[in-house]
This record gives sequence, C-alpha cells and structure tokens, in this order.
Amino acid sequence: MAKIQMKTPLVEMDGDEMTRILWKEIKDRLLTPFIDLKCEYYDLGLPYRDETNDQVTVDAANAIKKYGVGVKCATITPNAQRVEEYKLKEMWKSPNGTLRAALDGTVFRAPIVVKGITPSVSTWEKPITLARHAYGDVYKNSELYVDGAAKAELVVTYPDGHTDRKTIHDFDGAGIIQGVHNTDASIASFAHACFKYALDQKQDLWFSTKDTISKIYDHRFKDIFADIYEAEYKTAFEEAGIEYFYTLIDDAVARVIRSKGGFIWACKNYDGDVMSDMVATAFGSLAMMTSVLVSPDGLYEYEAAHGTVTRHYYKHLKGEPTSTNSVATIFAWSGALRKRGELDELPELVDFSDRLERATLQTIEDGVMTGDLYLLSTLENKRRVGSVEFLDEIAARLA
Ligand code: NAP
Ligand code: MG
Repeated sequence: MAKIQMKTPLVEMDGDEMTRILWKEIKDRLLTPFIDLKCEYYDLGLPYRDETNDQVTVDAANAIKKYGVGVKCATITPNAQRVEEYKLKEMWKSPNGTLRAALDGTVFRAPIVVKGITPSVSTWEKPITLARHAYGDVYKNSELYVDGAAKAELVVTYPDGHTDRKTIHDFDGAGIIQGVHNTDASIASFAHACFKYALDQKQDLWFSTKDTISKIYDHRFKDIFADIYEAEYKTAFEEAGIEYFYTLIDDAVARVIRSKGGFIWACKNYDGDVMSDMVATAFGSLAMMTSVLVSPDGLYEYEAAHGTVTRHYYKHLKGEPTSTNSVATIFAWSGALRKRGELDELPELVDFSDRLERATLQTIEDGVMTGDLYLLSTLENKRRVGSVEFLDEIAARLA
C-alpha cells in the first residue's frame, strides 16, 4: 500500500521521560508505516533545552507561526529537584508557558469518551471541551497582608499624572488584600480563539463569569465577548447552526451537570483551572484528556493534557514492565494530522486520523487497555496490557 504523502511540514516537538519513550513507539508503530511523515523536528526534551539555553522552544514556537500546526510531547517543567537531577544551567521556564505566550493562545481541553469508562455524571453522553483563558486574574496578582488598622486603596496613575482611586476597605484590624488585572487585548484574543474553535468544531459555545457581583471586571469579559460575537461571528454561527450562549457561572455549573455534553465551555482563568480538573475527573481519567492551544490568528498546537508520567519512567529505567496510557498522545497526533490534512486539502490524511482514533477506541472497547483504564472500565472481558503491547493491538486494528 502506498504511504500517504504530506504537503506542509508538521512541527514535531519531542519531550521527556515516559512520554518520550511512547512518542517514538507511536511514530514507529502507528504513523510511519502508513504516512510519509513530513515533520520539522524540535527536541524539547530537557537536556536539549538546557544545551540550547531554551532557544529550541522559541524556535519551535516560531516554526508553528510559520507552518500553522504543531504536535507536542509532554515535557518537564523544571523545579529545584530537576535542576539537580539534570544538572541544569538554569531553572528553565515551562515550555507550555513559552509556547502560550508566543502564540497568544487559548487552551482547549477535551476528554476522550470511550465505552466502558462511564462518566460520574450519568447524563453526559458527549465530551465537554473546556476553554480556559490563560492570562491574568489571580495568576498575576499582587497580594498584601494588612498588619492592623489601615486604609487600603486602589490607585491607577495615568502617564499625564492624573489618578483614579477607590477605597478597598477601611481596616480596623489585620486582614488581607489582593490586586488583579486583565487587559482588553487578552480578553479579545481569548474571545476570538473561542469563537473560531466553536466554528471549527461545529459546537455551541458557552461562556460564564460572575458579572452580577463583579460589575466592572467580569462584566468587561461579558461585553467584549458580546461585541466581538455581534460584529464578527454571529452570521457564521447562524450558518453553522451553532449558538453562543452567555450565562452566570452559577447557572452554567447547574446546566453543565444536567447537560448531555457536546459543547465548549469558556471560563476565566481560575474557573477554567478548577472546572477543567472537575470535568476531566468526572469523565474518567487524566490520561484520556487532550489539549489544543489555539491562537486568535488560527495556529494550532496539540498535546496530551497529562505530564511525562515520571513514576512509570523510573520503572522503565529499572527494566520493569510499564502499562502507560498513550491514548491522549495518539489523539494529539491524530488531531494535528487531521488539521494539517484539512489545511492542505488532503482527505486521505484526514481519513487516516479518523481511522487511527477509531482503532484506538476500538482496542479499548474490545477490552484491551492499560492499567489506569483497567481499574476504571466496566467491561467484563477486560485485559491489562503493557505500554507497547497496547500500541501493537491498535496497530493490528489499524492495518
Ligand atoms: P503526570 O505525568 O501527569 O502523572 C501523574 C500521575 O497520573 C502518574 O504518576 C500516573 O499515576 C497518572 N498518569 C498520568 N498520565 C498517565 C498516563 N498516560 N498513563 C497512565 N497513568 C497516567 O504528572 P506529574 O507526575 O505531576 O508530573 C510529571 C512531570 O510532567 C513533571 O516534571 C511536570 O513538570 C510535567 N508536566 C508536563 C505537562 C505538559 O507537558 N503538558 C503537564 C503536566 C506535568 P500512577 O503513578 O498512579 O500510575
Ligand atoms: Mg488545576
């Protein structure tokens, strides 16, 4: 059988530890036998990031800007222990943070739904994609402990020297204060990324904040979304038969729990952080969560939501068998290849991506799965297999 040909290179970003081991196995067993892979390779594994003073991450981000689509393996975000372990020159920044900043993107996370892994919420039939604004609010805050009676104020000083001020609180005893911010530009980017992604996925978009309480701050999010929707996306949404729906976060939470799923839920930074963990857990497993970073100008970076699975890697290094779930990493590849296929008008590449996903899900639904899913699955004839055996089972179904 002739291999599928590609037109434009896909930006491939290798990573660390167990996911780096799986990365190569996935390519060898599920991709290169079927596709003449055209990738521009960037090694974001920690040793090479250190060797290049993290320039390789910047180069990878620029390559995504050039070609439009990237696929990324999980990577280590160094902490003090990693600096010691890898003898690093510096505690390099999170590669995901660097990519997010360079692409000005929004992260969309969606669970992979499979028979036998039942969501905790019994009404959920389809995945719920969570879109988290990845800038500002409490993640870029300034906090102070107020050490006794004091007047706390908000002060804004403009370049011409004039100021706006407001009392936060007149303390008569000790307490705490916090200053947070966001920018119109970042909120607008978030809105564009959400509207574009909803059109791309042909799914309704929900957005929720606490605008009844936060009448200027959260209300600004609501207004920017509404203005951009009216001006630029309303017609396209109507044509696609999808809906943009704003509601208060309390109401959204109640509706999400009662829903059948199958929509995108956009959240502010903190809400998205918390709600994505809740949604992922309720759908079953972190190892079944995909993640895509979408920039407002339509660049895509696909990855698994989980990390490098360090504990399994140390077992692997000791020569012990592992049973690590590669589904989210496989779906990162299928997502990226499908997008490449759509952009380059290569229906056979789109079709391959669909088949790869179906073969992966079929394997699990046939009862063949890694240890994490084995613990959760309600299937009767289930069998726990090793990391590579799982890939071979998918490959057999794919062929
Ligand atoms: P993790 O790699 O996601 O793993 C945490 C635990 O979750 C694992 O020990 C394992 O549980 C389970 N798990 C996660 N993915 C799994 C999979 N594919 N198959 C089976 N089980 C899976 O998180 P971490 O251990 O906190 O972080 C490890 C490293 O990853 C860190 O250096 C961190 O910086 C990095 N990280 C990277 C990203 C990214 O690149 N996007 C995201 C998060 C973390 P059991 O041990 O119970 O089997
Ligand atoms: Mg979280």
